[in-house]
Amino acid sequence: MTTAAARNNDTLTRHVVYPFANANFLAVNPPICIEGGDGVYVSDGPGAHYLDGQAGLWNVNVGHGRPEIKQAIIEQLDRLSFYSTFGNTTNSPSVALADELCRLAEPEGMVRTFFSSGGSEANEAAIKLAKQYWRLAGQPLRTKIISLRGAYHGVTLGALSAGGVNVYKEQFTPLLPGFFQVETPHVYRNPFTSDPEALGRLCAELLEREIIYQGPDSVAAFMAEPVQGAGGVIVPPANFWPLLREVCDRHGVLLIADEVVTGFGRSGSMFGSRAWGVKPDIMVFAKGINSGYIPLGATLINAKVAAAFQSDDKSQFTPRAFMHGNTYAGHPLACAAAIANLRIVEQEELPANAGKVGAYLLARLKDIQKRHPNMGDVRGKGLMIGIELVADPETKRPFDLAENFGQRIWERCVAKGILIRNLADTFIISPPLTFTTEHADKIADTFDEAISAVE
Ligand code: PMP
Repeated sequence: MTTAAARNNDTLTRHVVYPFANANFLAVNPPICIEGGDGVYVSDGPGAHYLDGQAGLWNVNVGHGRPEIKQAIIEQLDRLSFYSTFGNTTNSPSVALADELCRLAEPEGMVRTFFSSGGSEANEAAIKLAKQYWRLAGQPLRTKIISLRGAYHGVTLGALSAGGVNVYKEQFTPLLPGFFQVETPHVYRNPFTSDPEALGRLCAELLEREIIYQGPDSVAAFMAEPVQGAGGVIVPPANFWPLLREVCDRHGVLLIADEVVTGFGRSGSMFGSRAWGVKPDIMVFAKGINSGYIPLGATLINAKVAAAFQSDDKSQFTPRAFMHGNTYAGHPLACAAAIANLRIVEQEELPANAGKVGAYLLARLKDIQKRHPNMGDVRGKGLMIGIELVADPETKRPFDLAENFGQRIWERCVAKGILIRNLADTFIISPPLTFTTEHADKIADTFDEAISAVE
């Protein structure tokens, strides 16, 4: 293996196709190759240490190098590295984790878990569960999926079709038929109103109009993130999710909560749905489920959905079997890591810590915003925070990306030892949930310094 010291920029980009990245850009701006991680810090080997303000990719929620998780993986590896969960066999970590997830999401009414290998796959399963649910429930025409503009549900074709960010979709059209997106309540950018409550109401009404327009008997499910993540950290008004639940109930539509980012504490509650006081029919998890130690996704269903898959028929492949599954579903190492991870989340009360430290960091950034007109909007919930840069605060006109305004701030942040994400001039801060207010200060002070220098 090439050591970090022996690598030059060219070797990092010669044979790799990087996700969501322009190869020509990377040839000039090679990625930082992270070699080590410890708690909230990562390092690029012999070079710099960074405070990890992005927790990998909003997933390393308990921090890097946790001995409890390492031990759980090693112990499981000593017993069994893999066995299939395809029905005629299973493995005990996946069974134990399903129990654990249903215990944690018991207040939301979840009773069964379907495993996969990541967020896209878990959403794919949610979409297919919803479609098959309606066939089994005797309404086979309910096939459409409605979601929100700005949503990110993943990259597989079903999850991508449900997504609402066009740059991710336009190279792959035509996508699946029967997917529709309605307006998201984006308080900072909408043409309707600056009153969050009114906006929440209006957007819930727009969803209802779409359901009625499509024909309620043709709509299988509505899916959304409790807080939109990759769309730029869009926090909906507090009335939006309760209204969504009411709209879905009025028209018999299933509600799918994509909790891939918000699950297990990031938004300041154990689940994003819980923060809004809403019980979805299907909940989708990945990322924080085991803090990324080994890839894992999970799709949970409530008793109503689960009941449709029950039958008196005892043969194996009845139409009531969920005809879907990935080889790595319920991977024992990933599930063992998840059980150890969730124990840490509960014992260290990380959802509450995310709420407390997130509120502190948000307040600090809003204070800094007063001195920097190019910080158009600072928003967030828990430890998911977005800073949207604008060229003109009055008109909210974005920067011409060729100006590289955000990129230059990012480079200064890196030089000063913090890693945060810059997504088209919206900075996303999503550190491990073990962050302290001192770590938050380091992020805020460094960002302040960096934007001051670039301005
Ligand atoms: N849903 C949400 C809300 C996400 O943020 C992501 C990934 N960022 C996904 C789904 C897809 O997950 P994965 O990248 O693990 O496929």
